[in-house]
Amino acid sequence: MNSPQNKPAGLRFFDTFSEHCLAALEKVRDAGTPVAGVYCIYAPIELIRAAGAVPIGLCGKRQAPIQAAEEVLPASLCPLIKSSYGYARTDTCPYFAAADFVIAETTCDGKKKMYEFLGRIKPVHLMHLPYDQSLPEALRFWRSEAERLAEFLASRGGRTVSADSLLEEVRTQNAVRSLLADIVRINADGVPLLTGMQLLPVLESKGFMVEAEPYLDALTALRDELAQLRSSGAAGVPARRPRIMLTGVPVGKGSHKVLQLIEESGGVVVCLDNCSGIKGLDAPVPTEGDLLENVARRYLDIPCACMTPNPGRVRTVNALCRDFRVQGIVDLTWQGCHGFNVESRIVREEAERLDVPFLQIETGYSESDTEQIRTRIEAFLEAIL
Ligand code: SF4
Ligand code: SF4
Repeated sequence: MNSPQNKPAGLRFFDTFSEHCLAALEKVRDAGTPVAGVYCIYAPIELIRAAGAVPIGLCGKRQAPIQAAEEVLPASLCPLIKSSYGYARTDTCPYFAAADFVIAETTCDGKKKMYEFLGRIKPVHLMHLPYDQSLPEALRFWRSEAERLAEFLASRGGRTVSADSLLEEVRTQNAVRSLLADIVRINADGVPLLTGMQLLPVLESKGFMVEAEPYLDALTALRDELAQLRSSGAAGVPARRPRIMLTGVPVGKGSHKVLQLIEESGGVVVCLDNCSGIKGLDAPVPTEGDLLENVARRYLDIPCACMTPNPGRVRTVNALCRDFRVQGIVDLTWQGCHGFNVESRIVREEAERLDVPFLQIETGYSESDTEQIRTRIEAFLEAIL
């Protein structure tokens, strides 16, 4: 395993990224730029930025605010929704405090109903998301939702989206996604150079980019350093650790329990296939033709379990198993998340077809079941070796 002494220097920027981000947010707010809180990767970042606002990720990943959320929301709801709402209710998240309004989408039932309560705390603009990506009407409708979002942003201190500003932001986001994809894919060939725990803050950082230039520079430096380590034959993570894909619900710093347990138990998470991970990184927005429609298409195609059917999920799992030479799949489901829970069966069937060992873990943010999950993961990894 990479020790703190030999961990790639380019990772340091991401360890303290949230502090950079808060300082940069303060600066743009002082300049009168509206800040848009977002909770989900269906929020079209390039459009929000082209409309003169700065998007910032607000997704709740910690247990602490859940109790306060449960005074309003049912306890049986997914912890991500409760944590997100709890932060807003207790006013304990500096990013939420910095947001002028929230851009939300009708993804899963729990989240969209939570937004009705969130709207009592902060203005919420709700984008209505179609659930079948293959219907031509779905794309038309989602494009019109993108237009409605642009109008909302213009009315909230932003500016009218021009073709040039949208193109510029599309190019920036394509560059971000491409650099992140290169960084993640360093683990595809040969011995993994990064553990999942090391990758996590890098992947999460994409939700917190305020100023594009320093962020792109940091990603480029890390990408180049990793390429250099690979070509010099650096040792990386010791071999004989089972190569695991962690798929399912979003994971972040604070909700990394299962990721950490896999690596503490002797595995290495070579790829995170969830919306805080690799999902969508290899899907750039085409820069030719109707740009707004291209943006709408790219976001509509995100293979989240709120889509039905959701063929992209199985396609992605299949491709990642091959590309990353995955030896085991761990499918994480947050308690109360029916979409990912039901879809787990489909992922299991695909794993069986690929002959890759599969383990589903259903849990919450609390630590109460940690040792029980550790035992299951240890047994799973032992059977792989
Ligand atoms: S899992 Fe789906 S609904 Fe939840 S944050 Fe990710 S894309 Fe959005
Ligand atoms: S994890 Fe599931 S229930 Fe929770 S917000 Fe995402 S899709 Fe909704």
